[in-house]
Amino acid sequence: MRTQVGIVGAGPAGLMLSHLLHLHGIESVVLECRSREYVEHRVRAGVLEQGSVDLLRRTGIGERLQREGMRHEGIELRFDGESHRVPMTELTGRAITVYGQQEVVKDLIAARLAAGGSVLFEAEAVRLAGLDSQSPVIHFRRDGRDEQLHCDFVAGCDGFHGVSRGAVPDGVLRTYERTYPFAWLGVLAAAPPAVDELVYANHERGFALYSLRSPEISRLYLQVPPDEDIAAWPDERIWAELRTRLETVAGWSLNEGPVLEKSITPMRSFVVEPMQWERLFLAGDAVHIVPPTGAKGMNLALADVALLGDAFAAWYGQHRTDLLDGYSAAALRRVWRAQHFSWWMTSMLHRLEKDDPYEAKLRAATLRYVVTSPAYATSLAENYVGLPEV
Ligand SMILES: Cc1cc2nc3c(=O)[nH]c(=O)nc-3n(C[C@H](O)[C@H](O)[C@H](O)COP(=O)(O)OP(=O)(O)OC[C@H]3O[C@@H](n4cnc5c(N)ncnc54)[C@H](O)[C@@H]3O)c2cc1C
Repeated sequence: MRTQVGIVGAGPAGLMLSHLLHLHGIESVVLECRSREYVEHRVRAGVLEQGSVDLLRRTGIGERLQREGMRHEGIELRFDGESHRVPMTELTGRAITVYGQQEVVKDLIAARLAAGGSVLFEAEAVRLAGLDSQSPVIHFRRDGRDEQLHCDFVAGCDGFHGVSRGAVPDGVLRTYERTYPFAWLGVLAAAPPAVDELVYANHERGFALYSLRSPEISRLYLQVPPDEDIAAWPDERIWAELRTRLETVAGWSLNEGPVLEKSITPMRSFVVEPMQWERLFLAGDAVHIVPPTGAKGMNLALADVALLGDAFAAWYGQHRTDLLDGYSAAALRRVWRAQHFSWWMTSMLHRLEKDDPYEAKLRAATLRYVVTSPAYATSLAENYVGLPEV
């Protein structure tokens, strides 16, 4: 099998890249180890920055997003029994849109298949070879058979646990990382949201986030210890803890309903540099992870491949190498801005297991500053909705 760009991974990064390449007349094949059913129902992120929405619309993927996505012009910060709205659109002129990652994935798969694109499900890349030659090869397994995909370039869009990053020789990549002493218990519930905008709550028992996926579905998160067992969280305990941390404002209560899904996600900051080696280009979670507090993961994945799509177009269309050569540096500028913002939001809103009273006072002072200083609120808002230029 041969193509121009071999893409490993059918998450937001790999699928969007394949779509962008198609629009530029460049062929690609996407290899995905999971089934179509699995990737279309994998519940993860749900906040799209304005730039991501613009990209999806500009490239013809925005029809259902336009209909079903929920535009939010602010977020709420809840602490000390008070509630404060950060009016993002008033401060920045931009907004976010709530639309589940699995919906973005569904829309992209539908567009690729309708255009005759090649997305091979249950095809696991096992080894990348010849990355420092003109014709790299992706060795993959499908239906119990070993197959090869020959290409001009490989795009490693296979997430944190993928195979691509590991194909770079030792000593080339530098890793920057931080793990946090807590995790998030995420809950999807069939309960009409009691809020119109996301509520970020800082409570002495830990952080909680109230968000939504549709007028019928709520998405809620609780800070839990990093090694927590999901079995320790029957639904009743989850709702009781959510009530304690979120019902801190007089007269307000959350809506409960059947829990459709629950899982625990570790919190990690992680960046690998550079995002390229020879003919391998890495994008999305394969090279960087942020704690989800800033809602940046999926947005960064889309921003990476927007750059990569233009870079491949310049290479194939005009024999230009400058954009491919500059890809890593350009992408990393946005990645590090998002790293800082995600770390900052996480530090401001979570409590530590063995809480240092000094740290707790700093968190309180930071929250108070955000809700009293227009300059500080604008800084939060412009990062949250996504900076057009970094
Ligand atoms: C459990 C979880 C919850 C999250 N929650 C949030 C959230 O609430 N808010 C937020 O902003 N962000 C969240 N994120 C982050 C966000 O979902 C990611 O940043 C986003 O998925 C990145 O997209 P991607 O395309 O780079 O990687 P992925 O979406 O991980 O896609 C990679 C794809 O590669 C495939 N793959 C892996 N290895 C191979 C292989 N060897 N061969 C072929 N295919 C392979 C995988 O199956 C997957 O489909 C969450 C992430 C996780 C893991």
